[in-house]
Amino acid sequence: MGVLSGKVAIITGGGRGIGRGITDCFLKAGAKVMIAQRTEPKSSIFAGGSVAYHETDMASSKSVAELVPATVSRFGRLDILVNNAGIVFELSVEDTSEDDWDRVVAVNLKGPFLLTKSAVGSLRASGHGSIINIGSIEGMGANPLHAAYCASKAGLNGLTRAIAVDLGKDGIRCNALAPGWIETEMSAEFIKSLPNQEGLVDRLMALHPAGRLGTPVDIGNFAVWLASDLSSFVTGQVYVVDGGRTTRLPLPG
Ligand code: NDP
Repeated sequence: MGVLSGKVAIITGGGRGIGRGITDCFLKAGAKVMIAQRTEPKSSIFAGGSVAYHETDMASSKSVAELVPATVSRFGRLDILVNNAGIVFELSVEDTSEDDWDRVVAVNLKGPFLLTKSAVGSLRASGHGSIINIGSIEGMGANPLHAAYCASKAGLNGLTRAIAVDLGKDGIRCNALAPGWIETEMSAEFIKSLPNQEGLVDRLMALHPAGRLGTPVDIGNFAVWLASDLSSFVTGQVYVVDGGRTTRLPLPG
């Protein structure tokens, strides 16, 4: 029996990158998982019958509203919500259009708010609901050209605390994970946008006291703990998972 046996989770963006790492760790821990994203994942993920897919666009309130009913209809209950899906544009504050801003905030912040609202009834019925928001170290610091992204992730930290405070009485906990550099398609795109590509990955790794970049499973393992009753006294927190990168104080070279 895994620590998530008998529990049902929604994972937005659960078919790729960090979301896929969380899906794999949840399945290993015994959960059933509804993957919600725009693209259907490869068929191999569905082997074993514990995974389902619901086509979802986190930027569409109509699409978000369909997700919890579809999950409860498929698996009979909902215990865990992971708001993981996210997007980023490489644009300066000056070049970010109102539409760019709205798109990033819609997927990264408004979508999680609407999905949480829609999930409250089912999570309350579960008796031990857990919401996990995937933020970023960019909720606390900023890389260049990420204004809308940073604002959305800082907002998600605030939303995390507000949900924990409002829904604690319903037995629902809410925490956020703030990943550092995790190897996924999103970070690969970001690497391509950086100047001076020579030895870049080695130089990136050297920023980390842990001596390496993170993997989706590093986030998935922490998410299992937050989703499970092992963390039942933990709510309203934002946990940095970055291999120590933001702990090292910079010194002049
Ligand atoms: P990827 O780009 O690799 O994956 C993003 C996932 O989100 C995909 O499954 C994608 O599926 C889904 N998604 C994107 N837009 C939407 C949408 N409108 N509606 C529903 N699903 C959507 O990103 P990562 O795995 O790297 O990132 C996952 C989360 O972790 C994000 O919130 C990101 O901000 C955060 N993060 C990542 C870091 C990293 O280093 N990788 C560092 C810090 C935070 P589809 O396109 O099919 O919809």
